[in-house]
Amino acid sequence: MSLFDQMPGLADFATTAHWLSLRGWSEGAGGNMSVRLEHPFDARPGEEIDLPVHVPHLAGMSIMFTGSGTRARETALHPARDIGVYQIGADGKSYAWLAGNQKPTIELPAHCAIHNALAKHRPEDRAIMHTHPANLIALCHDPKLGDGAKISDTILRLQSEALLHLPEGIGYVPHQFPGSLDLGLASAKLVDRHRLVLWHMHGCLATGKDLATAFDYMEYFEKCAGIYWALRAAGINPVGMSDEDIKKTLIHFGQLDRYRP
Ligand SMILES: [Zn+2]
Repeated sequence: MSLFDQMPGLADFATTAHWLSLRGWSEGAGGNMSVRLEHPFDARPGEEIDLPVHVPHLAGMSIMFTGSGTRARETALHPARDIGVYQIGADGKSYAWLAGNQKPTIELPAHCAIHNALAKHRPEDRAIMHTHPANLIALCHDPKLGDGAKISDTILRLQSEALLHLPEGIGYVPHQFPGSLDLGLASAKLVDRHRLVLWHMHGCLATGKDLATAFDYMEYFEKCAGIYWALRAAGINPVGMSDEDIKKTLIHFGQLDRYRP
């Protein structure tokens, strides 16, 4: 086995890709993931490539990225082929290939912008996952919802544990081009508070201490969105828990201070 095959987090990456595929959340080559390694990966860096964004909080770090055009359903079986590890330059202005897949996702700069914000505000959260769950994308099409605050308030009260996992609610980014740095920069502004950021008519971004945990957050939100659409399809106007029950539940579990109604 090579050093790359034994890299911490590679199994988490492959398992999460497997589940993204099983859930039908990453159709084709849709979606991508990245994880900051706790320790620099020991390999000779390749050519330095300029980043279009300055990421000083990532200086010298090693980060795993999904390879460009790779499919989650295949990454699960061939992680060492589909995942590459890169080093951010000491000045936070460039990156260089270290091992594995040599053609990173085009969203690498966007992911770097988000990792830079995470490293600053929530350094324990090292994983980023972007994927396309249908029930979540459908929320962006509902004129009754609109922004992140309204979506959080409507959707997360439909199941009594959802707000315990996501008391801050979700962030929301209006339309940006897929894969663009602007999409990454807009998301980076929201991840200081939000573990999840919904991208308008595109998909959702999840963050967590590892990819399995980021996937958990996506599941909690997707479950509530599924309940929302099931109720709407049955002709029921989703009302959910009362404000009083939400408060009592959050107080009981010591999460009220994180709640942003
Ligand atoms: Zn996407």
